[in-house]
Amino acid sequence: MLITEQKEKGIYINGKWRDAIDGKTRTVLNPATLDILTEVTYGGKHEAMDSIAAAQAAFPSWAKKTARERSAFLYKGFEKMIEKKEELAKILTSEQGKPLSEARAEIESAASYLLWYAEEGNRIYGEIIPSSKANKRLLVVPQPIGVIAAITPWNFPASMVTRKLAPALAAGCTVILKPASQTPLTAIAIVKIFEEIGLPEGVLNLVTGNAKEIADTLTEDPNVRLITFTGSTEVGRELMKKSSQHIKKLSLELGGHAPIVVMDDADLDLAVNLTLASKFRNSGQTCICSNRIYVQNKIAMEFVKRLTEKVKEMKIGNGVDNDTNMGPLIDQDALEKVKDHVEDALKSGATIVVGGREWNGPIQGYFYQPTILTDVTNQMKVMNEETFGPVLPIQYFENDDEVIEQANHIQYGLAAYVMTESTNRAFKMMEALEYGIIGINDVFPGTAEAPFGGMKESGFGKEGGREGIKEFVEMKYVSIGIS
Ligand code: ADP
Repeated sequence: MLITEQKEKGIYINGKWRDAIDGKTRTVLNPATLDILTEVTYGGKHEAMDSIAAAQAAFPSWAKKTARERSAFLYKGFEKMIEKKEELAKILTSEQGKPLSEARAEIESAASYLLWYAEEGNRIYGEIIPSSKANKRLLVVPQPIGVIAAITPWNFPASMVTRKLAPALAAGCTVILKPASQTPLTAIAIVKIFEEIGLPEGVLNLVTGNAKEIADTLTEDPNVRLITFTGSTEVGRELMKKSSQHIKKLSLELGGHAPIVVMDDADLDLAVNLTLASKFRNSGQTCICSNRIYVQNKIAMEFVKRLTEKVKEMKIGNGVDNDTNMGPLIDQDALEKVKDHVEDALKSGATIVVGGREWNGPIQGYFYQPTILTDVTNQMKVMNEETFGPVLPIQYFENDDEVIEQANHIQYGLAAYVMTESTNRAFKMMEALEYGIIGINDVFPGTAEAPFGGMKESGFGKEGGREGIKEFVEMKYVSIGIS
């Protein structure tokens, strides 16, 4: 299915859609069918430089607008996004693969960031500090940080874009958006919404293209004051190194390896359903997806039995079919990584309970069966590296202290989940787990009003909530002498 017969322009600078200066394009595929959707313009250094210049020129007047004026654009963006929910969800599924039901939920979530920051933008308060000297007045004045760049991933092509754009625009920053090359069409559709509602030229610029070249140009330019990035720890580390040149501010949401701890007092059916949802939504390609599970010995057999039954009922297929529960992986590299993790586990003695190979259905995409592994050890890749696929390794534990140690043993610290009916155990776990986000009997913690972000090598900076907008604000301290 072709979305358009023509080339899609993926570069939007200073209110104009453009081709890449050298005419380059990149193919966008449907990962479920391997059909070519379209060709999208593929920019690089030159386009990145132009977008920085445009964002810089637009900054003073955007920053001077009142919070209410900026908020009105975000509110209109929210309304348009909801109005176009079905159209956007279809674009998202076609280039990303997730079931349409998940794509619709993502568009709603993406729109909710626009709404929430339309409201929160009106509440960026400063302070007057009681001075220790009678002849001084001390003020803290919030100001937008300036031109910012947002580099976004393919796993949530809509919500990762608005989660960054909304607080940045609300705070008074101007933006350069670089979406993932696998999923530029959703980003283009979102930028078109802002074009339609009349966002001033240069306030939001889009550059699809060569990630490294664009990122190098952004980090090398002192006028880009902050980079907000969601993606792998490896690329985050590179961005951090390169940003040190101009002491650029960063907000990094990087890899994760979320544990689910299922305690013997858990509501078993709930725990099974939540585990299923956490592991297999988006085919396991969510940075807060559970990547390993620890089940307490007493309930282990029963838990694995019930979970396996549910996994066997899952319908794999094209996300546009109504009964599909799980779509494809994003590309061949993603599929190879999952295969490698499973092969590595099997070589070292893991047992396949269900799944364990590519899915060969009637369509030809990058599919892998939902998989459960037991007899896994801490030396295996599945227990240490982000699999980003539908593979769930299970270990058993005897007591709480043992599982805390196990859950904390790796360097990732994004999200962790605990299934328990005991308030005492919930609090103990919540305090002991070294993760930025904890779900207690909940595996969908992401929401516009709460601060989402990791610890350790999962990054720093918060997205969502009151904290999310502070990333884009400088608190200027003003000391006034009076007579
Ligand atoms: P993933 O493993 O999820 O694809 P990446 O970190 O590779 O995560 O990609 C996330 C985003 O980072 C995408 O927009 C991608 O184009 C971009 N990206 C990839 N490589 C680089 C790089 N060297 N520098 C900056 N951004 C990059």
